[in-house]
Amino acid sequence: MKKIIQDLNFEQLKQLAAEYGEKPFRAKQLYTGIMQGKKLTEISVLPKAFIQKLLEDYEDAPVTIIKTLVSRDGTEKYLFRLADGNVIEGVFMQYSYGNTQCVSTQVGCRMGCKFCASTLGGRIRDLTSGEILSQVLVVNAMHADGKKRGVTNVVLMGSGEPLDNYQSVVTFIRNLAAEGGINISPRNVSLSTCGLVPEMYKLADEGLPVNLTVSLHNVTDGERARTMPIANRYKIAEILAACANYFEKTGRRYIFEYSLIEGENADDKHAQALCRLLAGKPCHVNLIRLNDVKERKLSAASENAAQNFLQILQNGGISATLRRRMGADIGGACGQLRAGYLSGQ
Ligand code: SAH
Repeated sequence: MKKIIQDLNFEQLKQLAAEYGEKPFRAKQLYTGIMQGKKLTEISVLPKAFIQKLLEDYEDAPVTIIKTLVSRDGTEKYLFRLADGNVIEGVFMQYSYGNTQCVSTQVGCRMGCKFCASTLGGRIRDLTSGEILSQVLVVNAMHADGKKRGVTNVVLMGSGEPLDNYQSVVTFIRNLAAEGGINISPRNVSLSTCGLVPEMYKLADEGLPVNLTVSLHNVTDGERARTMPIANRYKIAEILAACANYFEKTGRRYIFEYSLIEGENADDKHAQALCRLLAGKPCHVNLIRLNDVKERKLSAASENAAQNFLQILQNGGISATLRRRMGADIGGACGQLRAGYLSGQ
C-alpha cells in the first residue's frame, strides 16, 4: 500500500509541497481539495504533473464507498473499501441537532465482546488517522449543502476499539478539528471504549475535550466478563476511577453505554445495582436494546423490559435515555454489514 495523504495536516502538506518543488499556495489547494473529500486525481486546480508525482507515493483515495444501504428511518450505512482491499463500515444518522457519523477505527477488533459482530474475525489491522478522517470526508461531501457541513458530529463507535489504536485516533481527532479543514470540534466527537483504563488516563491529558463513552453492559466484574473478556483485565472500579479523573481533568461528564441483553444484564436487580454504582456521578446512561447478531446466540431484552429498566434508573436519580435502534433493518450495529459482506451475502 502507498502512503495516505490524509494522514498529513496542513503544516505537513506545506513541507510536502516544498519537497516536491511546488509553491506554498499549492499546499493550500491540495489541503482544500482533500478536505472536500476529493481523490487526488479530482483536485483539478493542481498541475497534472504534480498529481502524477504524488500518485507515485500516495494513494489516489484511501477510502471508497462500495455499498450504501438506506434504512426506513433514514439512517444510511456504508461499506467502505480501503486501498489494500480491506472493508470497513460506517453509519450516518440525521437528528434534529445535526448529522452524526459513526466511524471505524480498526479493521475488525480484538476485544472479543460476545454480542458484537466486529470482533468475529479478530483484528486485521489498525486504520491510519487519514483512513479514519477520510470516512468523514467522503460522507460529508455527499451530504454537504453549499457551505453547510454534511457531518456535524462524529462518534467512534464503528468497528474497532479506538483506545487500542491510540495514536492514530488522537491524531484523527486533532486533524478533524483543524481550522481551515472540516473543523469539527472535539466537543462534537464521542469516543467509545470498552474500558482500556491506562489509555483513558492518557486521553484525559491530551487537552481534547471529547465525550468519553464507556461500554459498561453489566454491574459486576464477574457477570461483565461473561460477555466482555476485557473485564478480566480491568475492574469496573478501575473504570469508574478513570472516568472520575476524566471529569476532573476535562470538566466533561461521561456516558455509559448499556446494551440490554435478555437473561444477561436486563433484570430489575441489574438496574438497581446500576443505580447504586453510579449514584451521584456526573454521568449519563445510554440504554439500547441489543441489535440481534445472527452469528451470536444473545438476543435483545424486550421493549417492556427496556422501559422498565429505564424507569428504575430514572427513579433512582440516574440520568438515562433509551435510544431507538436506528437502522435495525439494515444491520445498524457494529460490524454487521462487514460480517455479511465477508460471508458473501
Ligand atoms: N470498541 C468500542 C466502540 C465500538 S462499539 C466500545 O467497545 O465501546 C460501539 C457500541 O456498540 C459499544 O457500546 C458496543 O458495546 C455496542 N455494541 C456492539 N454490538 C452491539 C449490538 N449487537 N447491539 C447493541 N450494541 C452493540
